[in-house]
Amino acid sequence: NANLKEADNEVFAIIEDELKRQTNHLEMIASENFTSPAVMEAMGSVFTNKYAEGYPYKRYYGGCEQADKVEQLAIDRACQIFGCKFANVQPHSGSQANGAVYAALLKAGDKILGMDLSHGGHLTHGSKPSFSGQNYSAFYYGVELDGRINYDKVEEIAKLVQPKIIVCGASAYAREIDFKRFREIADSVGAILFADIAHIAGLVAAGEHQSPFPHAHIVTTTTHKTLRGPRGGMIMTNDEDIAKKINSAIFPGLQGGPLVHVIAAKAVAFKEILDPKWKDYAKQVKANARVLGEVLIKRGYDIVSGGTDNHLVLVSFLNKPFSGKDADAALGDAGITVNKNTVPGETRSPFITSGIRVGSPALTARGMKEKEFEIIANKICDVLDNIEDKELHKKINKEMEELASNFVIYSKSTY
Ligand code: PLP
Repeated sequence: NANLKEADNEVFAIIEDELKRQTNHLEMIASENFTSPAVMEAMGSVFTNKYAEGYPYKRYYGGCEQADKVEQLAIDRACQIFGCKFANVQPHSGSQANGAVYAALLKAGDKILGMDLSHGGHLTHGSKPSFSGQNYSAFYYGVELDGRINYDKVEEIAKLVQPKIIVCGASAYAREIDFKRFREIADSVGAILFADIAHIAGLVAAGEHQSPFPHAHIVTTTTHKTLRGPRGGMIMTNDEDIAKKINSAIFPGLQGGPLVHVIAAKAVAFKEILDPKWKDYAKQVKANARVLGEVLIKRGYDIVSGGTDNHLVLVSFLNKPFSGKDADAALGDAGITVNKNTVPGETRSPFITSGIRVGSPALTARGMKEKEFEIIANKICDVLDNIEDKELHKKINKEMEELASNFVIYSKSTY
């Protein structure tokens, strides 16, 4: 019954250092967030010991009474949040969820049309190194030089390609996605509309972004980004036939036993989202991202699409002498964690890039508001204006650590 510190001091020390890193740095990676201690407690629970192949009340193992209850609770809460009839909460990740969608609805070699990775799409939307680009015949749409999707162009490409599935949703797109328009395009070519809302799900849940329902036939999300839950995925639909195919594609198609401890944590996160306070969080996420964009523009930086409708801004350095990689490293030295990102009209390699993606969800979860985002955005500009000045980066690092210390996230490293 030894605790972690007694049982394995090495791992304990590493986790302690990770807590320090998460506490002292400003986390601005758009796909990251902080879950609540309650979510982590459920994740660290005895459910990690349980095999529960199958679905609630239809299992291949005995002793699943409590697993049934907790998975059903997660499903019911997910359906309530997103206003849909069916949810599968078992995918181990967003990529697994997307793999199940294709496995359920396509044959090898079938055509899919998704957003180009270098324009903001995800690997699993048909990118060549991913199973989605290897097992299926993938075609792409992108953004215009103004950083926005041109829906008429998407329609033209869809008519030419005649895909079986159109994928909408992105990893680096700052504007609202018009699911209704995507459905019209899908209908015009008889395609299934698949919306991957991994990045914006927390905003959708609050009514702060257009919902993919009733437009999309099938919707996936991760549960750890704007939803602030445990790492994992989820698939939703209103179509009973699709739901059955999805369930078979996840188990026994792609996965074995579900991670019941993570499903329990998903249920806890969904309860938090059903609380009226969730709307305040989602509104603040958007307000903070807006301030970030406004300050950067005022200080002379190019924001792709000229602003943001959601939780992130894409900053372009196409007209600057330094790259996304340089900016990412300099900001890291200053205690601000972002990631390099390709931008429309990219001239550098995907490993170097000409942009960064900066998000507001994690710092908003720490309680930061417009005032703090204005300070941080100005510090980001100070670093970028003086990208070679290592002394300044060090000084800003101290200042950012002090700012962070006023917004405690966790009182300990494990719950
Ligand atoms: N879909 C989108 C739009 C994403 O941005 C991501 C992750 O970044 C995923 C799917 C994949 O999620 P995971 O990393 O859990 O496989």
